[in-house]
Amino acid sequence: MRKKLIAGNWKMHLGPVEARALIAAIRAGIDRDAAALGKDRDVMVAPPAILIPAVAQALAGSSIMLGAQNMHYEDKGAFTGEVSPPMLKGYGVTHVIIGHSERRHIFHETDVLINRKVLAALKHRMTPILCVGETQDEHDNGRALDVVLHQLRLGLENVGDDDMTAVAIAYEPVWAIGTGRNATPEQAESVHAAIRAAILERYGPERAAAVRIIYGGSVNADNVDSLVSKPDIDGALVGGASLKADSFARIVRARTR
Ligand code: PEP
Repeated sequence: MRKKLIAGNWKMHLGPVEARALIAAIRAGIDRDAAALGKDRDVMVAPPAILIPAVAQALAGSSIMLGAQNMHYEDKGAFTGEVSPPMLKGYGVTHVIIGHSERRHIFHETDVLINRKVLAALKHRMTPILCVGETQDEHDNGRALDVVLHQLRLGLENVGDDDMTAVAIAYEPVWAIGTGRNATPEQAESVHAAIRAAILERYGPERAAAVRIIYGGSVNADNVDSLVSKPDIDGALVGGASLKADSFARIVRARTR
């Protein structure tokens, strides 16, 4: 049985005071049941990089894991404005979102760059959450699977067999992100199944069965149960709804079957 992964992506929101308050409220909502919830799900939050130290402190003693929204692939160097894998590790970061559609489309990150970041995360023993997903246009033209499988293949270039199970994939259709229009559970499930089949072909059945493929795109407290109860949907990457403690706590408690 794969553990579900419920991940919050705070994007470029909140300051240190609000971030501490949000963590305290999320913890108040789930900490007392953490042991039961922890049996079949992991929970992670990814604040903006500058808030990672404050959030790391606020998470002390909690089972909630700390993620980053992005990172550079080099350990150090003349890369003004960037944050390196060892810097993140120093604050206890365990997961890094890589290739989010906002990074691809607003900051023009390429599949080659994204692949370097995936490899760097693995080298530093962090879980890369490799995001893939088609735009509205690509969706309308029936190209969703082509695009997603292409991004998957390039994003996983040179990822060895032993590292594959340390990777998580996030299927995030661009048309569903921040729009309030989520993919239906059936739509998402069919893409997740195709992603798993592609992993099976390249890495074999055991690794394909172990890899977590989570869904992102307007997940909220009302639609999460129907999404994560599908067999190939192993959790959720949550943007807007992760900024409100009550909705995120409810998403964490999703019914998974
Ligand atoms: C995201 O930021 O990855 C995301 C899926 O956002 P939202 O849940 O707001 O659509």
